[in-house]
Amino acid sequence: MTEQERYETIDMPFYEKEIRPLLPPEVLDFHTHVWKTEHWKENPWKEQEPGAKYMKTTQEYPMEQLLADGRRILPGVTYKAVCFGNPTPAADIQLGNAYITECGKQPELYPLMLAGKGLSTAEEIEGVLDAGRIYGYKVFLNWFGNNYGAVTIDDMLSPTEMRIADERRLIVLLHVPRSERLADPVIQQGVRNLSQTYPQAQIVLAHCGRCYLPDEMQRAVKAIKDLDNVYLDSSMVMEPLSIEILLNEIDSSRLLFATDFPVPAMRGRRVYVMDHWVDLVLDGYEPSDFRVMSDNMRASFMVYEIILAIRRAAERVGLSQKQLEAIFYENGKKVIETVKNR
Ligand SMILES: [Zn+2]
Repeated sequence: MTEQERYETIDMPFYEKEIRPLLPPEVLDFHTHVWKTEHWKENPWKEQEPGAKYMKTTQEYPMEQLLADGRRILPGVTYKAVCFGNPTPAADIQLGNAYITECGKQPELYPLMLAGKGLSTAEEIEGVLDAGRIYGYKVFLNWFGNNYGAVTIDDMLSPTEMRIADERRLIVLLHVPRSERLADPVIQQGVRNLSQTYPQAQIVLAHCGRCYLPDEMQRAVKAIKDLDNVYLDSSMVMEPLSIEILLNEIDSSRLLFATDFPVPAMRGRRVYVMDHWVDLVLDGYEPSDFRVMSDNMRASFMVYEIILAIRRAAERVGLSQKQLEAIFYENGKKVIETVKNR
């Protein structure tokens, strides 16, 4: 079967029946990556760096490809996205931030610059923020792959970045470190400190605090319950029970639909086995850690599994249709409109 045949005979009938009816006319994807080949300081997949095989996707993923994927996978709605570069030591931060400034010229894109402790001076950060239509930071990950070690939030963000974020009400999109993620008490305290010290900053925890598993969400959610300036993006979270546990504790207005493109343009589903997630995908993708490939199943774009997990959780906790639709657009739009950098 060709790619186009698969799209027409498997993906689109499923999309029209199960996914499209859930979506508002505009969809805002709060977590996507864009980069060009020349932004790599070293090819992270050719070098034998630790973590090099953590998550293989593609050599480059320019903004045109992101928008094309959004429109192809979610046709019939207007696709908009918060986007940023690759926040890893293998990427050139200056080149990535220059490209992000270019992305700001596209009205359907809301770029975040890469920032993090020790990476830039306050003047340098303000220079990038003042030069373009930039809505905040994607926090730099100062490690390779899943080598989180003993990293804390204090190691990732300093008062230099956070003071500016507080003044301008910036989005601070944070991928929390350590193997226990937001279930780790040290990480929970770090998030609480950020939220309370910088109450005007809008902190978004990527991948729902990386709580892909219900047990992790169960241990994590109480720590952020009372923090109104902490939001959660749904990127790569496909487990309905994780989202149900979250929505039982916090208002649904703090949940923001997100994909993590290009990753969930793969066909398959993120599942969990024992105490870790695994990406179960169709054959033909690059071999990668935590990726199991097989053609012995039906599968469509992982984006749909994220949307279905939200719908299944919303049903269980009794969200209205309006509240459900807001997760896909209004909730994120309000966060963007609160930013004072424009
Ligand atoms: Zn990401």
